[in-house]
Amino acid sequence: MTQALVVTGPGELGVQDVTLRPMGDADVRVDIAGVGVCHSDLSMVDGTLRPTYPQVLGHEASGVVVEAGSDAGLPVGRHVVLNWAVPCDACWHCDHAEPWLCSTIEARTGTPSGTLADGTTFEACLGLGAMAEQVVVPATAVVPLPDHVPLAESALLGCAILTGVGAARNAARVQPGDSVLVIGLGGVGLSAVTGARLAGADPIIAVDVSDSKEGLARTAGATDFLVASSDLARDVRALTHGRGADRALECVGSATTIRQAWTATRRGGTCVIVGLGRKDQEVAFNPLELFHFSRTLVSSIYGNSDARRDIEGLLAYVADGRLDLAATITDRIRLADVPAAFERMRRGEGGRSLVTFPTNDHQERS
Ligand SMILES: [Zn+2]
Ligand SMILES: [Zn+2]
Repeated sequence: MTQALVVTGPGELGVQDVTLRPMGDADVRVDIAGVGVCHSDLSMVDGTLRPTYPQVLGHEASGVVVEAGSDAGLPVGRHVVLNWAVPCDACWHCDHAEPWLCSTIEARTGTPSGTLADGTTFEACLGLGAMAEQVVVPATAVVPLPDHVPLAESALLGCAILTGVGAARNAARVQPGDSVLVIGLGGVGLSAVTGARLAGADPIIAVDVSDSKEGLARTAGATDFLVASSDLARDVRALTHGRGADRALECVGSATTIRQAWTATRRGGTCVIVGLGRKDQEVAFNPLELFHFSRTLVSSIYGNSDARRDIEGLLAYVADGRLDLAATITDRIRLADVPAAFERMRRGEGGRSLVTFPTNDHQERS
């Protein structure tokens, strides 16, 4: 039995004892050291997405391999970060260097991963279900970590940091000296600011509805901070020689902020949709502006990353001190506190909440 955070329906969640599925030859059993509370987890609860229930939440996690199948190719004791976007290396997208669009990734979410106490089968969020003391996952869904990297905090490499830094580098293709606008400063948005800094952007204009995010934004690398307002595009032009931002990254996923990011992008610039939005909203563009402004509008999924390759690159930044894994973590909590973390997220408060497990002492050893 392992304790896990189970969603049984929209808005219905709680900690339960669950039984994980049996190990296969290519699987690993991982004691979870840290698991981040991501906005996509909230999307599984609040009706934005309609997953199959019951479901164990959690997809941004790190831990220690405690059991390995005969074909897993990983030793017991190895520190790992979980990867929810495992490419198949066989589909059209994988074959065309777009592993983040692999056609098997979304299908994998529907895999039964164990049973609740009453025998009901549950599914695992994004194939991982990592808001649990322990998971059983394919060995292909973990990326090894060096032992000296802080283990619990490394959880963020599996979603927020890979997504945010990747959005700036791979999707927006930020170049040294570019002006970059980031709207929405949750875990992913703050990591997009970090990605802009690592790419040499200047200025980096960070925007949020709450002025309480200014300190976190500046720590991540923002040169300017603005509270969201209807005059946002004018304020951004004032900081970018009247042109607008070379690259704008929208990390909210709402029609209003997508439209604001678009309007604040310069002629010929790039606007990247990073936020996961709802399908019952619409964004309007008029034909003349689409022609005149000559902007590019793209989305960024998982930072357009191949986790196996890009986590290694991020670890190099951790090693040379340019990437602080803990910089966006504002709340260290227990599994039962996740509903309260969702409430903070709804109110726009704080950065990342990180769940640790008193029963798994690995994070204390790291
Ligand atoms: Zn996530
Ligand atoms: Zn594929």
